[in-house]
Amino acid sequence: MTRHDAPPPTRGCRDAPVLKQRGQHEVFCGLTGIIWLHRKMQDAFFLVVGSRTCAHLLQSAAGVMIFAEPRFGTAILEETDLAGLKDAQEELEREVERLLARRPDIRQLFLVGSCPSEVIKLDLARAAERLTLRHAPKVRVLNYSGSGIETTFTEGEDACLASMVPALPKTNERQLMLVGALPDVVEDQALDLLAQMGIDKVSVLPARHADDPVAVGPNTVFALTQPFLGGTHAALERRGARHVPAPLPFGEEGTTAWLAALAQEFGVERARFDAVTDAPRARARRAVKQAAETLAGKTVFFFPDSQLEIPLARFLTRECGMQALEVGTPYLHKAILGPDLDLLAEGPQIAEGQDVDLQLERCRAARPDLTVCGLGLANPLEAEGLTTKWAIELVFTPVHFYEQAGDLAGLFSRPLRRRAALHLEAAE
Ligand code: SF4
Repeated sequence: MTRHDAPPPTRGCRDAPVLKQRGQHEVFCGLTGIIWLHRKMQDAFFLVVGSRTCAHLLQSAAGVMIFAEPRFGTAILEETDLAGLKDAQEELEREVERLLARRPDIRQLFLVGSCPSEVIKLDLARAAERLTLRHAPKVRVLNYSGSGIETTFTEGEDACLASMVPALPKTNERQLMLVGALPDVVEDQALDLLAQMGIDKVSVLPARHADDPVAVGPNTVFALTQPFLGGTHAALERRGARHVPAPLPFGEEGTTAWLAALAQEFGVERARFDAVTDAPRARARRAVKQAAETLAGKTVFFFPDSQLEIPLARFLTRECGMQALEVGTPYLHKAILGPDLDLLAEGPQIAEGQDVDLQLERCRAARPDLTVCGLGLANPLEAEGLTTKWAIELVFTPVHFYEQAGDLAGLFSRPLRRRAALHLEAAE
């Protein structure tokens, strides 16, 4: 069941040639995900096993929250720890014991690995197992890597969720699992739309509390709300669950197609689907239209960063009238992104991975009206007269589903309006 106003393009980008790049890349590491994950999982604690650099990253990126009620910290390994790995392992476990004794509210503890070589040599999986044995059932200790060598910034969430899947209890019940950490208010909107359609046996990974019932099994189907969850997708399939492929729920069209795929899976009648979605669809279209006035006819160039690039290019080209010149993504996972690629009309260069200097050259030659990139590239490109949008904002701002569609378009139109206003001022 799909009902889009615009038909799909005659040729989408699913089979378009992909420029594969394996050079230097400029993105944050997976530790960044802790900033939104700790807000979502209200009784979890993230202990980064890392260096002072890692502590500084967390403090500067999440500085405000660290002074509130911190649910993340850093077990800093000093250089002397290199001398005795065994001591480091014991010290880490002592640190966890101290933390859990001090903080009885912690129900899930994630040991998050990082890049420094002494950390890489530590066996965090064994430490997590030993600590779980000691503290179960009250506290579950898991581990994953947020290392900048292994992960880009949204892969931290993927690694975290994937680490939770093997520990989920088994169920044979027919159920839907929504996968991806969304702000509570946005998640509630999605659950409400599904409930109105009669789909109410729904769990969410990650759950807000450790005690929330989340189980998985052969009658579980799952829908991703974020495109960067390739590892979690594989882990859930290993537990027998089945993915419902769909465009990601960005914008009116993406949300409708995402809901339609689930409606089809659960046999929801067309009339009921329309009755539930007609009003929010109309609201979303109106909200997008306003921002689209600034965006229509403009060109956009995506550097690979958040892995949201392909669904966002689909949204900007089909709902906002933009033209995509290049769409770079760190990874191109077709099982997840295929439906979005089908809707993205052929034309833009699709690129996977990065060789930042070559890509900067292509961007400078293309002179796009808007460049979506990481913080490190934005300032130099702005200085060269290009208008940029920080990719990281797309992860920190609520942008999913109907009620946020206007805000999503607004994130892209604002920098263009700002640049136009500056030009006007300069001309006066
Ligand atoms: S994990 Fe690596 S890239 Fe990330 S802050 Fe620590 S040292 Fe830097």
